[in-house]
Amino acid sequence: MSNKLRITVWGENVHEHKNAAVAQVYPMGMHECIAAGLRETSGTDEIEVRTATLDQPEHGLTEAVLEQTDVLTWWGHCAHGQVDDKIVDRVQQRVLQGMGLIVLHSGHYAKIFRRLLGTTCSLTWREAGERERLWVCNPGHPIAQGIDRHFELANEEMYGEPFAIPTPDEMIFISWFEGGEVFRSGATWKRGNGKIFYFRPGHETYPTYFDKNVRRVIRNAVSWAKPEGSKWIDSAPNIPVEQACEKIVSKGLSLHKAGEAGYR
Ligand code: ZN
Repeated sequence: MSNKLRITVWGENVHEHKNAAVAQVYPMGMHECIAAGLRETSGTDEIEVRTATLDQPEHGLTEAVLEQTDVLTWWGHCAHGQVDDKIVDRVQQRVLQGMGLIVLHSGHYAKIFRRLLGTTCSLTWREAGERERLWVCNPGHPIAQGIDRHFELANEEMYGEPFAIPTPDEMIFISWFEGGEVFRSGATWKRGNGKIFYFRPGHETYPTYFDKNVRRVIRNAVSWAKPEGSKWIDSAPNIPVEQACEKIVSKGLSLHKAGEAGYR
């Protein structure tokens, strides 16, 4: 495995071609802006960034690409349903093996996020260009490093509670919006060996992914989410009696013969 952290930035890349306002904010595509932010922002690891989009064969997420990806970032909104279930299976398998996953903004409804979390991931929302204030509620966490007590985005879409997610392992940010709502905007989970971070900001009509604090958080998050440990968790090997650490004699009822190598 290379010492470099290998990142794949996945973008749906649909609004950018259908909506002039989005194309004006992100002329190279949102995925290219997110990738540029990762390349220019310093972090704890050296990184190598590539992008992949929905319209590419296998959505740009071939076996080979995922095999060479330590952390995947995901932005999608209007075309979640067009993501092939076979690719969702493949990404899920890689996360369980240890690949990190950073889910951004409207990616809360992505098939892969709902699959891994097992809930609807629904929320309330309003599009009125409101001010968003993101409070750091876990200042010792690696994802919050370099961020002040809070930071603000001048214009964002509002996301409000209830956010139908399983209780997070860790909460890093809570957002407040001009209209009064609050939202759990930075949260982590572990699935198998893989680390998952959801980060709320990033509506397509606002220049959120140019913001230095947002870029810093995503950069911190990819370093935090890098794979650790072995990949044993995706199989279920049998440990025969004669390979037990202590000498044992098989007793009681068993459906498997003594010395059987395994099943599956
Ligand atoms: Zn949005």
